[in-house]
Amino acid sequence: MDLSFTPEQEAFRAKVQQFLRDNLPAGWGTPGFRPPGTGTLAFLKDWQRRLYTGGFLGMAWPKEFGGQGASQIEMAIFNEELARVRAPAPLNVLGLTMAAPTIITYGTDEQKARYLRKILSCDEIWCQGFSEPDSGSDVAAARTRAELQGDVFVVNGQKVWTTLGHLADWCMLLVRTDPDAPKHRGLSYLLVDMKSPGITVKPLRQMTGESEFNEMFFEDVRVPRQNLLGAMNDGWRVATTTLMNERGTAALASVMRYRIVYDEIVDLARTTMRNGAPATQDPVVRQQLAQFFVELEMMRFTAYRTFSRILKGGNPGPEGSISKLAWSELNQRLQEFVMALEGPASQLMKGSPHAVQGGRWQHHFLRSRANTIEGGTSEIQRNIIAERVLGLPRAR
Ligand SMILES: Cc1cc2nc3c(=O)[nH]c(=O)nc-3n(C[C@H](O)[C@H](O)[C@H](O)COP(=O)(O)OP(=O)(O)OC[C@H]3O[C@@H](n4cnc5c(N)ncnc54)[C@H](O)[C@@H]3O)c2cc1C
Repeated sequence: MDLSFTPEQEAFRAKVQQFLRDNLPAGWGTPGFRPPGTGTLAFLKDWQRRLYTGGFLGMAWPKEFGGQGASQIEMAIFNEELARVRAPAPLNVLGLTMAAPTIITYGTDEQKARYLRKILSCDEIWCQGFSEPDSGSDVAAARTRAELQGDVFVVNGQKVWTTLGHLADWCMLLVRTDPDAPKHRGLSYLLVDMKSPGITVKPLRQMTGESEFNEMFFEDVRVPRQNLLGAMNDGWRVATTTLMNERGTAALASVMRYRIVYDEIVDLARTTMRNGAPATQDPVVRQQLAQFFVELEMMRFTAYRTFSRILKGGNPGPEGSISKLAWSELNQRLQEFVMALEGPASQLMKGSPHAVQGGRWQHHFLRSRANTIEGGTSEIQRNIIAERVLGLPRAR
């Protein structure tokens, strides 16, 4: 495996860096910075449009659908540079990383022409309606029912934990179309207009105080047959493509993201006093920081391996689970380490004048609990690695 970049790829990296210098607002990345303009949502929509018109979205998509026809390497370089300066990810992240690759793989020409450009331009935001109250890890057990009546599917049921559901225009909806078939064979994948009558979205509040996700209720929602993605009752195969893309493509960017978090933690340790000296002089702290560094390097080479597979095989495979498991568990340990480093001050949240660095680590700590659940729990990633990467026998 050759880990070096070509002069053309390095030139592309310089172009991305210049774009970010020219387009991120002044003061970006400094603690307490708030985006300018008419609120965060407007800022994020505008940001995605800038990325699109700058030619940095849909990097590896076909040109006919608004993509750049570039390689996955350019896409990874772009994501890495975005993470390096902590630039916001595009708002329509689920559309870009999950809906679009699935539509490119299974969509008809009409579907590709209808949806892809609007995903890029952020004119239509997407959410992922897979999880239900009784089917999260076992997503193939979905019970939301879609009955074909003439040329229309009539959908009834409930989804939960739907990120961006409150903002979304479209939903990737996994539904049961044949209740008598074995569970993996009775599913279909619908593209659902979130403005359809009969859809109710109720925000859920997380322990960080934010509401990123929602419950969604479907009552006699009518979805035209032409919105079926892939074949009827073949939805499990289509959904698997969505899930592989969720876990596999951002591995290099996560390494960059957590390397920056790590560097910030080292800085914090330098300015935190312990027994009359900076915490970085404490041998236990030093050992822990060294251990995190080793894990980050392991993540980097694992990401290269995942990436090399994408380059050879086109689509991300089950190896994406290794990166997902590594970054989610590492981030939780990094955040727990910060709480221990802050000591009693770790109890002070944003709003307290004595909170360390404005209480931002408390927010990161609380949010990190979701890392080992979202995108599939750690147990599920381990099962995938055991069965589909290592080829071990399935548990009975
Ligand atoms: C922040 C966040 C955002 C999310 N966004 C979305 C979204 O946009 N769209 C969407 O559809 N879903 C979303 N989810 C839902 C997420 O995919 C599910 O929460 C996750 O798959 C786990 O399902 P569950 O919560 O039903 O837990 P369960 O499946 O009930 O699992 C409970 C526990 O049992 C363990 N377990 C279950 N099965 C096995 C097994 N076979 N072997 C070993 N252990 C097992 C699990 O690991 C877990 O510890 C989001 C979740 C979070 C936290």
